[in-house]
Amino acid sequence: MKVEVIEPHGFCAGVTHAVKCALAALRDEGEEGGGGRLYCLHELVHNELVVEDLKGRGMVFVEALEEVPEGARVLFSAHGVAPKVREDAAARKLEVLDATCPFVGRVHDDVRRYAAEGAKVVIIGHRNHAETIGTAGEMPNAADVVAIASVEEVDAIPFDVAAKVGVAVQTTMNQDEIAPVLDALKKRFANLEICASAGVCRATKERQDAVRKFVEGALPRKTGVLVLGSANSSNTRRLEEIAKASGACWSARAGSLRDIEGLQIPPLDVLGITSGASTPETFLRAAIQVLAKLERPGGLISGEGFDIIAP
Ligand code: SF4
Repeated sequence: MKVEVIEPHGFCAGVTHAVKCALAALRDEGEEGGGGRLYCLHELVHNELVVEDLKGRGMVFVEALEEVPEGARVLFSAHGVAPKVREDAAARKLEVLDATCPFVGRVHDDVRRYAAEGAKVVIIGHRNHAETIGTAGEMPNAADVVAIASVEEVDAIPFDVAAKVGVAVQTTMNQDEIAPVLDALKKRFANLEICASAGVCRATKERQDAVRKFVEGALPRKTGVLVLGSANSSNTRRLEEIAKASGACWSARAGSLRDIEGLQIPPLDVLGITSGASTPETFLRAAIQVLAKLERPGGLISGEGFDIIAP
């Protein structure tokens, strides 16, 4: 079996920036030596290894601002937060460090503009995802914004068909699934505006395109794709979907080395390895080492060599 690392993969610019912010702030705390603690609202990025690493360095993760003592420092994650969260932080006199990705910031800008124009808003995104919750929070009235993730949900949107409706998109959606939703929205709402930021971010697009190109280039050989990343990472999950949709005969996601050890990899000619935008490169390297050591009688990993093409 030939094993190939798919490029590009792993940390995007937004995640790299967020992690750098966190490490610099933790360093400050250490140097100041005041015993102060650094809090992070929600997971900084959706990767359990990154979160565990930061916890080990002293970062405290909370799910609500009320858990942060007044006057303490709090880091907002790469996914962005609603304006109400910023107001609450100011009311509690928290020192805010903001790691919101600029691509997410642009979506917030567009939704704020829609709100100022009196438009309703449809977000093509997962309604429970931190990014979509933050973006939706830009609308002053929660009844004026809905999040949908599929064509099937368009008919149930509770807006008048004559209303002005603005569209925004969660940056880590499956880009292949956005166009059909946009088409359905255009058919339902005559006064529809699709803003410039309405699409996946560049990093998401590049990683999704790379997986599709890899699978299409490897076919008709028996091709598999292993996606490294956490279960709650939207872009990681989308990479696995795209591998399947492109024709890979096997695909799986692994968030830990234990996951790798438990993989049931069928006989394959080619295995592509990629990782989500919040998955550290060190995990990819460790995963390759574990895969290389897996000895499976009759399995392709042990029987036919392990030819790694890595950058
Ligand atoms: S996936 Fe895109 S939007 Fe999200 S942090 Fe990375 S660059 Fe920013």
